[in-house]
Amino acid sequence: MESVLAPVARSHHYSPLLARSVNLHKVLDTLVNNLEGMAYRCLPDVHWTMRFVSQGCHKLTGYQALELIDNQAVSWERITHPNDRIRVRAEILAAAAAGQRFTVHYAIQTRSGAIRRVKEQGVMVVDEGGQQVLEGFIEDVTEGFLTLEALAHAEARYRQIFEHAREGIFQTSQEGRYLSANPALARLYGYASADELIADLADIDRRLYVQPQRRERFQKLMATHGEVRNFESEVYRRDGSTIWISENARSVRDGYGAFICFEGTVQDITERRSQREQLERQANYDGLTGLANRNLLRDRIGPAIAHAERMGHFLAVVFIDLDHFKLINDSLGHDAGDQLLVEIAHRMRNCVRASDTVSRHSGDEFVLLLNEHFRANSVISHLQRVLKQINQPVSLLGREFQVGASMGVALYPQDGEDAQSLLKHADVAMYAAKERGRNNFQFFTPELNKVADERLNLATAMRVGLEQNEFTVAYQPKVDQHRRIIGVEALARWHSSSIGMVGPDRFIPIAEDTGLIGELTDVILRQAFAAAALWEGPQAAKLVIAVNLSARLFLADDLVLRVAALVRASGLPPERVELEITEGVFLDDSARAISVLNAFKAQGFRVAMDDFGTGYSSLSYLRHLPLDTVKIDRSLIIDIESDADVAMIARSMVGLCQNLRKTVVAEGVENQAQFDVLRGQGCNEFQGYLLAKPMANTAFCQLLDQGGGFIRAPIPPKPNR
Ligand code: C2E
Ligand code: CA
Ligand code: CA
Repeated sequence: MESVLAPVARSHHYSPLLARSVNLHKVLDTLVNNLEGMAYRCLPDVHWTMRFVSQGCHKLTGYQALELIDNQAVSWERITHPNDRIRVRAEILAAAAAGQRFTVHYAIQTRSGAIRRVKEQGVMVVDEGGQQVLEGFIEDVTEGFLTLEALAHAEARYRQIFEHAREGIFQTSQEGRYLSANPALARLYGYASADELIADLADIDRRLYVQPQRRERFQKLMATHGEVRNFESEVYRRDGSTIWISENARSVRDGYGAFICFEGTVQDITERRSQREQLERQANYDGLTGLANRNLLRDRIGPAIAHAERMGHFLAVVFIDLDHFKLINDSLGHDAGDQLLVEIAHRMRNCVRASDTVSRHSGDEFVLLLNEHFRANSVISHLQRVLKQINQPVSLLGREFQVGASMGVALYPQDGEDAQSLLKHADVAMYAAKERGRNNFQFFTPELNKVADERLNLATAMRVGLEQNEFTVAYQPKVDQHRRIIGVEALARWHSSSIGMVGPDRFIPIAEDTGLIGELTDVILRQAFAAAALWEGPQAAKLVIAVNLSARLFLADDLVLRVAALVRASGLPPERVELEITEGVFLDDSARAISVLNAFKAQGFRVAMDDFGTGYSSLSYLRHLPLDTVKIDRSLIIDIESDADVAMIARSMVGLCQNLRKTVVAEGVENQAQFDVLRGQGCNEFQGYLLAKPMANTAFCQLLDQGGGFIRAPIPPKPNR
């Protein structure tokens, strides 16, 4: 390696001392040339004319040292990037003028055209010949520069993200002050800028969270985990409105573990949350009534059982089915039906405790989960309250209705150990309640299982019975005040080949539920009309035959036509036929029900309301119905001779019916005293065991024949001597 000092050595300015000291020369050479970078001496002229450059020149610039010395091939001014030339010169000369060392950063263009970043450090000195020269060192700092630049870029990029993020980003102190916040956070909390937020929201602990414990919880999580994830809280915005946010944050610590700040992001999840809540509601709650649905009920039974077991309580699972709901729904319309369900749901919820569950299972079926009863007795009184609430009048379409419910109860632990069996047994018990005449509740007992099985058997047997003509009619006479027979009621009888005698109280409800009632009614009516057409005797031609029409039949469109066809086929004049209809039909005095009654009237039939006084209808309500006859229910007659209240009620009913010019029939008259009271009150007709039990047609024909059309009072026993 030739000495870079050679050109300098040729200079006449060169020190003879240095030229002579070859050894020293070599040492310097090695030192200088091994430096990464270029040592130089140059003149402060327009070219920065180089008088000396070290070997590093080549690596730095691509030029050989000799090419640069005395601007042989290129000057340093040329190598300096044009953008930086003026600045570099100004900085160097300024430092030189002040007698100071200088450091300048600038770019150079190498021989190959590449741009490199350099750092030049130097000083103005006077050389051996008394001339001012610059001596210094220029090194390539491109790499470091790029790193710095990258950092600056990164920083700028992150700032962009920070500034433009849609999520709020924050740093807060342990004490709950904002150290920094981005514009999104400011917007989220209702501030115009981050600065405003930082200035105003000085006390996060007390000002931000709607529930103050949330900040405590935040701190606690931070302390134990060093972070929080999806931490959801309700917070106040600046204007006092609230939103729901989700925070992800961590605590930032220095290299020694000392706390610096909390840092994290905030998202507004108000909408997401309300969607989630809505989904949850849809999944767990009934849309119409807002009650728990099947799913939620099922979810709750398990824990409720566990709780009952732990505490030694009873848990009651109660299946509730509204009586005759379908009737309301079909006749008043679905809106009214919905309204009824909402009202009943509301009432049920009001008479259970917070720990209880009221759920809607389907249609008009509800399930109650009653907790914390120590005795079966308290379940009973609780259910009595529920039933009473359900029974309160409901006003629909401007009119008042009374609704009944059949409820079945299964108790944990005795009636089932798990949700499924408790629900099943409550359902079985509910059917038993329906069979006991509805509007009551029944507990599940093993025997009730048999009842349920029997229901199924009965339905099957009924189908067989209808095919094999097992159904017959019994006739129960009705008399006037003089005990003259004026009519009969036809009552269905069934002697099943497989089961034996089954009473109508058992098979009619099943016929109604299974849809067999239509066929059964045809059978009964055909027999009854045929029999009535053949009766003989003094008033036979005037005897009225009453038949029962189930409320269920009113759902069919062709009821009037079917009955009319049966009567016509028998040859009986329609005015000798009375149709007994229970109050269930009148439950709605909707246009439809009334028009059915009117249609019957138009055909010439008589229409009677059966079992009056047991259920829904009020006295004044009768006024609007095209009825010929009102039959006062047996339950109002039983105590008539002994209970003044009952007598009073009966009297007012009879009085009202007479005012309305309806025929009043007392049914279930069992003794002479009842007969006398009722006759005294003005009752028109009487039916009951006192006069005659239901009997076969042949027996009734005999009665007509023998009694001359009267049912004679038994001869009073002779007084004992
Ligand atoms: P209902 O229409 O109220 O019929 C009167 C019921 O009271 C009959 O019971 C009759 O035997 C009974 N009864 C009559 N007098 C007395 C009395 O002095 N004391 C007592 N304790 N009971 C008396 P039955 O025949 O068992 O019928 C029960 C119910 O079954 C009927 O009540 C009616 O609702 C229904 N039913 C009977 N036959 C038919 C039918 O062909 N079609 C429909 N849809 N229902 C029917
Ligand atoms: Ca009847
Ligand atoms: Ca009756």
